[in-house]
Amino acid sequence: MDSYRLIRSRRKTIAIEIRPDGEVWVRAPLHASKAAIEALIAQKEAWITQNREEMRQLMQAELPPRFVAGESFLYLGKEYTLTFSKSLESVKIRHGFVILPENDQSRARDVLMEWYLTEARRILIPMVDRLGLRAGVKPARIRISNARKRWGSYSSSGTLSLNWRLVMVPPAAMSYVIFHELAHILIPNHSRAFWNLVALWQADYRVQRAWLKKMGKKIFQF
Ligand SMILES: [Zn+2]
Repeated sequence: MDSYRLIRSRRKTIAIEIRPDGEVWVRAPLHASKAAIEALIAQKEAWITQNREEMRQLMQAELPPRFVAGESFLYLGKEYTLTFSKSLESVKIRHGFVILPENDQSRARDVLMEWYLTEARRILIPMVDRLGLRAGVKPARIRISNARKRWGSYSSSGTLSLNWRLVMVPPAAMSYVIFHELAHILIPNHSRAFWNLVALWQADYRVQRAWLKKMGKKIFQF
């Protein structure tokens, strides 16, 4: 144990606490000996290491990306490690890596977002056409949005909006969002009839909705 913060108070036992930033706090009785404290820390070494690692992962999951090499980014539900290359002129996905031109390192966020937007247009728009054909409904317009929280929406004027971040999610979750918004063409609310219709079009929609809920927090940090 390299370092920890010792907080003495009128308590009876020694307790070890891992803070969100990974710092270790030791709460101890006023007269607890240094030896007793160190002994407990040594005994709990494995527990401390494991909990710090879990905390680190948790914090990383909820923090905004920094766009540095080694960070992972989602594309179609799979993780790709960000790296930079001298020999590239545009963004490429290859062997588990998302590769950006080295010259773009300082504006990696913009370059990556631009690439995601292009992919969103390329993948989502034909998907709406295809799924709409299957469902027998067609929106008047499709728009790729940059909403801060919503995956998609449908306006009464006939515009179906889809968040560009949907290219980060697995295709099945993507299709759930599209079916959800297409269902609003027929039913504007979230009544039982609405969910029955969604289930008719995509039987496993609950699984997809749960995935989006779980991963949404991280994805919307971008
Ligand atoms: Zn809805």
